[in-house]
Amino acid sequence: MQLNLKPVFLSICVIFGLFIFISNTLKLELKIKSDILTNKVNDKNFKDNDKNLNINIQKEINQNNNIIEFKRDLPDKKLNQISIIVKKDQTFSEILDNFNLINKRKYQLINAISEHFDLRDLKVNQKIIFFIDKNEELKEIIIEIDFKTNLKIILNSQIKIEKKELKTYSIIESKEYLIKDSLYADGVKSNLPNKIIIKLIQLFSFDLDFQRDIKKDTEVSVSYEITNVENKSQYSYGDINYARITIKNNTLEYFKFTTDDGFIDYFNREGKNVKKSILKTPLDGAKVSSNFGMRKHPILGFNKMHKGIDFAAPKGTPVYAGGNGVIEIAGNNGAYGKYIRIRHTNDYKTAYAHLSGFRKGISKGVRVNQGDIIGYVGSTGRSTGPHLHYEIIYQGKQINPLTLKLPSGKILQGDELKRFQRKYKMIFAEHLNNLFE
Ligand SMILES: [Zn+2]
Repeated sequence: MQLNLKPVFLSICVIFGLFIFISNTLKLELKIKSDILTNKVNDKNFKDNDKNLNINIQKEINQNNNIIEFKRDLPDKKLNQISIIVKKDQTFSEILDNFNLINKRKYQLINAISEHFDLRDLKVNQKIIFFIDKNEELKEIIIEIDFKTNLKIILNSQIKIEKKELKTYSIIESKEYLIKDSLYADGVKSNLPNKIIIKLIQLFSFDLDFQRDIKKDTEVSVSYEITNVENKSQYSYGDINYARITIKNNTLEYFKFTTDDGFIDYFNREGKNVKKSILKTPLDGAKVSSNFGMRKHPILGFNKMHKGIDFAAPKGTPVYAGGNGVIEIAGNNGAYGKYIRIRHTNDYKTAYAHLSGFRKGISKGVRVNQGDIIGYVGSTGRSTGPHLHYEIIYQGKQINPLTLKLPSGKILQGDELKRFQRKYKMIFAEHLNNLFE
């Protein structure tokens, strides 16, 4: 008896040891995977999403590889919910390999979805939710197409697909800060979303020369829309509703208003449109490196009229259309390098030189709106380093953009003015209420 017990005891020990070893290896592997994934998530930008979402997703991923089990919002109590975060270079077909699907069914499914949504548009870090029954059979998939639209795929004998618009609601957020360093840097420090800071810069750029006008302790105050989606942590930023900047004793105010002709625009308290026909600075955060006027040419060496403004900025910085208009030239233009010229109304044109490239779709005859990205800062043509050479041309002659007095826009009158006055008082009251509640 004693002799027979020994091998049994030994086998139990071996099996137990093996179990411990396998489970530890598995844990370790999962941990490594989750670390890699966490890093990936950190690297990838959730630009339009907030920090909370980022944290939520990380937490979910950390729980168990990139597959996470959810307990909320089960459409059917019998189904288990599994969320998968799309990794870089991962195809939908590869994701489906996590589930027991025969090839025929898999391709049937991919074909059915492709009729409604191009699966190549899946983004890194996008979440796809799968529902399986207790036999691990895939019953339902939810793909979040954009922040407020879901594609729901139901897998029965037939595959049924429905597009679902989710309910959204908007709130207004308000912030106020002093500029110590720059409008941009202090905006970031005050937790202003990137997208809103860029809109703020574009709005102010109609009236301000950032280098000359903005001094230390300039006060900025802003209200903007946040659109939330019901039952989701995700949201997007909308328009600026109100903005104010106080320089010395001069206060500039901007109120969002939809005019009678249906355009969304910005007006001051007097009902004067603050938008100008052409931007003085068609890029963000740039420094003027060479002004309009006579100068010793950095490459040619002799004195030459500089018929534009040079803005020093890193290669790849987006360049905006200075005004609404039509692209007249987009191509190589000798010493100007890669060059764009836009024709605006009232005999105005703007030109952009030394670009590293053009935005996709920008070519002769294309219509652009003020603030649209048209190209990227570079150093092509006769250039000593990355910068934008910007010209404003009036009746065929280059003029100095910084001293240019541009025609101002619409002035509200009559009933439209009265409607605006009611609106701006509401916007302002909400702004103050948000700031000081
Ligand atoms: Zn220049």
